[in-house]
Amino acid sequence: MALTNEARQELIRTAQLFADEIRPVLSEQRGDRTEQARTTYAAFARSGYHALLIPQQYGGSGLDYTSAGMVYETLSYHLPGALHGPITTAHCVEMVKSSYQDALKDSYLSPIARKGLAVGFCLTEETAGSDIAAITTTATKTDKGYVLNGKKSIVINHAIASFLIVFATISPERGRAGINAFVVDPQSPGVNLSEPYGISGFTGSVMGEVTLDNVPIGKDCLLGEEGSGYFLLMETLDKGRPLVAASCTGSAHRVFDLVVSYTKQRHQFGRDLFSFQGVSLPLAEYATRLHASRLLYLDALERIDAGQSFSMEASMAKLHAGQTLAEIASFGMDILGYRGIVEASVIQQAYQDAQLMKSIDGTGTVQKMVIASQL
Ligand SMILES: Cc1cc2nc3c(=O)[nH]c(=O)nc-3n(C[C@H](O)[C@H](O)[C@H](O)COP(=O)(O)OP(=O)(O)OC[C@H]3O[C@@H](n4cnc5c(N)ncnc54)[C@H](O)[C@@H]3O)c2cc1C
Repeated sequence: MALTNEARQELIRTAQLFADEIRPVLSEQRGDRTEQARTTYAAFARSGYHALLIPQQYGGSGLDYTSAGMVYETLSYHLPGALHGPITTAHCVEMVKSSYQDALKDSYLSPIARKGLAVGFCLTEETAGSDIAAITTTATKTDKGYVLNGKKSIVINHAIASFLIVFATISPERGRAGINAFVVDPQSPGVNLSEPYGISGFTGSVMGEVTLDNVPIGKDCLLGEEGSGYFLLMETLDKGRPLVAASCTGSAHRVFDLVVSYTKQRHQFGRDLFSFQGVSLPLAEYATRLHASRLLYLDALERIDAGQSFSMEASMAKLHAGQTLAEIASFGMDILGYRGIVEASVIQQAYQDAQLMKSIDGTGTVQKMVIASQL
């Protein structure tokens, strides 16, 4: 059931207080990328932010999608770039929820919520990026279940996950109908995790390759009916896109506020930068785009909560919010001048994250394909 406005405002206030509390902890943490991702994830999980959409009966917050989006926006405003681990777990949770299998919900949703576990979403492969149906990871049937073989190119949470959701095909000749989703224990024999990618951006999370070499799994690891994996995947991506859009909106708003404030105090040619229309008019446009981003993601999430069709609106929200974050962050880097390059700052971090956010849950082109397919 949807929360009241008052209850949502309370959630937002709580998220702000949480962010203020953990910001110093996150900024002072030491160790390698995996260790930092673990600490960041644990901080979110201790307050239940990895389990916002897990029903209360399994120990989660049981929020409606709109409220969860508002919380994601707030957390991404106050802790930009730190939320990718919990958002990935939320995607995996949706896969389990959409499978409509009570036994799997008991086995996975409860431990995720109650023990603060992280999950990895293993879809993308070297030859299957935007073209999801081209995956070549195979699930070969055995008497006891399946044996998985293949390699996933980039998986957020890979080194800290307690479960992996792996997409594989049972019958390559059946195309999409052959695709299935499986829950895999990363400790299983034959699962190999690469060293973390040393990328710029997404500083609070860890990601890398997952290789599956003759990994035996039981029949009960299959999510949904056999052959339903592609359908589950589409539903999960559709539901995830407005949540990612909410996160982009929060990060973009933070950058926007910083840029406005900076232009009002930075003087050149005897005046503050904001007093030049060459600076203030683009900012007026970004303020408008930011507002549109928020309305688009809220609309998509409200449609999910109301049980209405939402696929096109979800892609519109992700497309718009991703582009807006990238443009505001790029403008911010211009405005900072040389400081954008020599000083580590929220704007520089958002600029790097924006380049990565463009690909998450499908590139802008993929969002346009989804939208065009419904025109
Ligand atoms: C930071 C980050 C984290 C990620 N985390 C995960 C994860 O946890 N799990 C996971 O499975 N994946 C993950 N991904 C992968 C992500 O989903 C893919 O990057 C995305 O689906 C695009 O695939 P690709 O990178 O192979 O690009 P490609 O599909 O090769 O596309 C390359 C370019 O071609 C364009 N293009 C593709 N097809 C067309 C077309 N028909 N017409 C016009 N243009 C086209 C694309 O828009 C893009 O600009 C992550 C990616 C990033 C950047």
